[in-house]
Amino acid sequence: MSDRSNLCVIKVGGSLLKDSGSYIEAAKNVKRFVENNQLPIIVVSAAKGITDTLLEVAKGSVESFNKVFDVYTEIARELGSQRVFKRVLDELEILKRIAYSVSGGYDPSLQDLIVSFGERISKILMVEALEVVGVRALELNARELIVTNDVHGDATIDYIATANHLEKIVNSIVSTAAVPVIEGFIGATEDGRTTTLGRGGSDYTATSIAALLKLNDVYLVTEVDGILTADPSIISTARIVKVMSYAEAMEAAMHGAKRINPKAFEPLEKFYSSTVYIGSWRLFGTKILQVIPGECKGPKVIMHKTSHEMPYIAIIGEGVANVSFIKKVVDIIYESGVEVMGLQTYYYRPSIIIHVKRGSEISTLKLLHRKIFEEVE
Ligand code: ASP
Ligand code: MG
Repeated sequence: MSDRSNLCVIKVGGSLLKDSGSYIEAAKNVKRFVENNQLPIIVVSAAKGITDTLLEVAKGSVESFNKVFDVYTEIARELGSQRVFKRVLDELEILKRIAYSVSGGYDPSLQDLIVSFGERISKILMVEALEVVGVRALELNARELIVTNDVHGDATIDYIATANHLEKIVNSIVSTAAVPVIEGFIGATEDGRTTTLGRGGSDYTATSIAALLKLNDVYLVTEVDGILTADPSIISTARIVKVMSYAEAMEAAMHGAKRINPKAFEPLEKFYSSTVYIGSWRLFGTKILQVIPGECKGPKVIMHKTSHEMPYIAIIGEGVANVSFIKKVVDIIYESGVEVMGLQTYYYRPSIIIHVKRGSEISTLKLLHRKIFEEVE
């Protein structure tokens, strides 16, 4: 077996990929990893807004096809090489033919095929950007490597079949030492039909590759420096959560936390506990581990959500579902004069759910953030 100790996975999120400059910037950051003797496997998302636009293409919108065409050809042209420009045009030509065959009516497998071009073209652009900054790169094909079931639009990865495929290529990746780039979010069934893994699915691709190859580090790159204690548009003093457990991250995802994909933790739970770093090229502020040390337990994230027209606040963190913490929370709310309509905890889940009167959820969330996350006694 060849030495895999310098392999890691980096997922480049679509929010970062806006224009040719952002592909180059991503490539330069990948280069820093390479210069540090790491060999990152790059998992790339579609450029910003492209997946949404392709979903419109799948409904028959010609205007949306033109939008995708314009965005991707402009990036390809600016990256400079004739060969890549031609390849992108060829892909778009295939997409166009498929898109024009849409005859109305919802066809989930056709939709997946159309949407897959977002990542397929983005991968070609990322490989080119790497070459431009002087990093040797290598294209991998997610539709050959990532095997899924046939649940179009929300497919699950067949870990065993995918692991077999990855094992077959990993040695040559290590010995070539070129940076491999693969599409996130897409895969194919055993019989070759293109599938997608659900929105935000590139994270799931990244963690699956890491877990199946038993790699220690997965970097999920977005435009913020990490997971925040609260939505910064509500709480301007929200700060970065430095360490979280898989269970906490999954719980936050279940209550709708942005930037966390719940499926992403499954392969890590099942096969290998890689460390997940979430952040920006500037700072990977949040580290997510299978097990967190005792001193890292406690409240991590507070959020509000409405379910069945009932607003609730969720406080997420291992150890919050204990009586003394619950009492503290109830006391804080009670003293503020807001009525607690209900409270829910399960000893096996790292969260407390607090139902308050409609209209008081934001003020209560602000109060709890201040008392619990800011005033540390
Ligand atoms: N491009 C896909 C989406 O927007 C997958 C991803 O970004 O992770 O959902
Ligand atoms: Mg995306």
